[in-house]
Amino acid sequence: MIWSRRSLVFWYYVINERNLTNILVNANHEKNTGIYIHIPFCVKKCAYCDFYSITDLEIIPSFVQSLVREVKMVDAPVSDVDTIYIGGGTPSLLNPENIGCLIDTICNRFCVISASEITMEVNPGTVTPEKFAGYRKAGVNRINIGVQSFSDQSLDFLSRIHTADDAVCCIKDARRAGFENIGLDLIYGLPEQTEKTWRFDLESALKFTPQHLSCYMLTYEPDTPMTMDLMYKRFKALSEGKTGALFDFTARFLEENGYLQYEVSNFASSIKTRSSHNQKYWSNVPYIGLGPSAHSFIDNCRSWNVRSVNKYMQRIQAGQRPVAETEILDTKQQMMEVIYLRLRCVEGICMADFETRFNVCFNQSFGHVVDLFESKRFIKIVDGHCRLTSSGMRFSDSIAARFIEEI
Ligand code: SF4
Repeated sequence: MIWSRRSLVFWYYVINERNLTNILVNANHEKNTGIYIHIPFCVKKCAYCDFYSITDLEIIPSFVQSLVREVKMVDAPVSDVDTIYIGGGTPSLLNPENIGCLIDTICNRFCVISASEITMEVNPGTVTPEKFAGYRKAGVNRINIGVQSFSDQSLDFLSRIHTADDAVCCIKDARRAGFENIGLDLIYGLPEQTEKTWRFDLESALKFTPQHLSCYMLTYEPDTPMTMDLMYKRFKALSEGKTGALFDFTARFLEENGYLQYEVSNFASSIKTRSSHNQKYWSNVPYIGLGPSAHSFIDNCRSWNVRSVNKYMQRIQAGQRPVAETEILDTKQQMMEVIYLRLRCVEGICMADFETRFNVCFNQSFGHVVDLFESKRFIKIVDGHCRLTSSGMRFSDSIAARFIEEI
């Protein structure tokens, strides 16, 4: 199986529901805390999506009040904060005043450093030039746009609410509002997709010289309308071989155009424009998740909030934190997490750090697995790091699973 945005979410759930040592850039990102805010509202559910969101938009104002209260309730000892990520759902359904209020509350509650990366996810069809200007004034300095495709036919299949023209307008409006750090999300592996049609999406995206691109493979999540249609044979999924070829093509094509893959699904125009926030998820760095279904990770303790807006608001109104469950990761779980998440990243696993942290000899534990995948050219050892080659990236989860068998 190829890694996708869904696979990352899988880890949020499996390690218990979207950092590992030695991220080479911005050393402080290894220590500072990241804050994720989940805005669980969408105009309409997309057929492929299993993220938690609802379509009752009337409760947004009271929900924002609950979120503000949750920020104030956080009692964990937290290091300086240097990333805030407002994701969803569709955060751009909130007006700039709401976003400003949330950012201000976070800045009052935590020590947020001045150069923090403050990202907001935006969906075409839900945002105007005035809203972009307001978000910027509120403190947002990085915009991630859920374009998904520049083909109306593909957008229709994905049941997105927007057209390709809406996506183009959205990107242009964001630039005109002064956002210099823009990321675009795209989805590939749609039925009958060819290298030519996927190339059209990539080329269309590159015309706007985005700083960041996330290319997610379409996955069929249980119980989504799209998966039901697939089961009832209303369409045929693209074969694994063809999807894999598109995966390889993506990395090659983007590299030729100046974007470097730094994680299985993520590409940046430079080291500086990598997503600092998302890198925390792939390292051993604390992050706090606020809002329904959001996950937190602090000192090997993972917790997650209730996955219901109503229950979430009821808990907050009763003065209780909306945490559904908490789990302390044991050593084996920590090792699994390091292997799975670090192998997703181009830097790979720093073997010395691994040995120090877990008091094991990396070679003794995993030497023959490394040999096996080195012989297939899926793994290479570089500067004391065990990392996947570009061909290995395609199989990162199954390779990681083989490592984990040895723990
Ligand atoms: S807009 Fe995003 S979060 Fe909302 S339903 Fe569609 S894919 Fe899911």
